[in-house]
Amino acid sequence: MSDCDGGVPGPVLLELRGLGVSFGGVRAVRNVSLSLRSGELVGLIGPNGAGKSTLLNLITGSARPSAGQILWKGRPIAGLSPDRLCHLGIGRTFQNIRLFPSMTVFENVALGMHSKPLYSLAEAFVRGRRARAAEAEVARRTAELLELVGLGGRGSERAGALPYGLQRRLELARAMATGPELLLLDEPAAGMNEEECAGLTGLIRGIHREFGYGIIIIEHHIKVVMELCAESRIYVMNLGEILAAGSPREIQGDRRVVEAYLGEKREAHGRRRRRLARDS
Ligand code: ADP
Ligand code: MG
Repeated sequence: MSDCDGGVPGPVLLELRGLGVSFGGVRAVRNVSLSLRSGELVGLIGPNGAGKSTLLNLITGSARPSAGQILWKGRPIAGLSPDRLCHLGIGRTFQNIRLFPSMTVFENVALGMHSKPLYSLAEAFVRGRRARAAEAEVARRTAELLELVGLGGRGSERAGALPYGLQRRLELARAMATGPELLLLDEPAAGMNEEECAGLTGLIRGIHREFGYGIIIIEHHIKVVMELCAESRIYVMNLGEILAAGSPREIQGDRRVVEAYLGEKREAHGRRRRRLARDS
């Protein structure tokens, strides 16, 4: 397996060993093992309901695994709180955008930064020199991140009033503000048109090169994943399991992968037919 962009692979950042979780009778994730080196960018694809978002929830502490291990730089982290994991350097964006819509664009990003305290509560209380300097630093870094994601000059707008594509970019800036070493992106291009997808692909590629984050990207727009992972690998999930892993070319030629997606298409087709029959 190669790392992305031909750089030297770093040490192993994240390792999942036999990870599993069930909700009621549904085994949403089963026996998932994978590892990611520092600075690697890998894709995670699979039909709807495959367990992709649940896997990210396990890594970020919003769900607890019922089996297996999650290792961060070799240390077990399963069961730690989302806040703690964020402090350790695991940042994420959500499939369903989770911004504070009534706050400003600037505030949404600055809040991400405050998830890592820059000064003590006591200092904040007396508003000492260090607290003021830290606040100026937050403002400077926030402005930089907004510029980077294409939101320069829009910091005072209400986050909820931004067009959808820009809200996704804002989510990306907010996740970067937490100072991650690993960035987990859950369908960052959802709802985007082809032009917006191309713009986002370039942005993620640039961020990866410049900041050297480890990145796992879930994406339904196959072109986005294929382009970003051209020199790395893609994991394919189906029914909670890793069905295949390999280069974009290997994945595209894998019969099981094609069948998993065809299954999804057949199911959607069946749903449409049943709806039409019901409504007619
Ligand atoms: P994907 O992101 O690949 O579309 P998900 O991880 O969202 O898939 O879902 C995988 C399966 O787990 C689905 O059947 C979903 O309904 C179920 N699931 C996910 N989270 C929960 C939960 N909190 N409670 C019950 N079922 C869940
Ligand atoms: Mg999902």
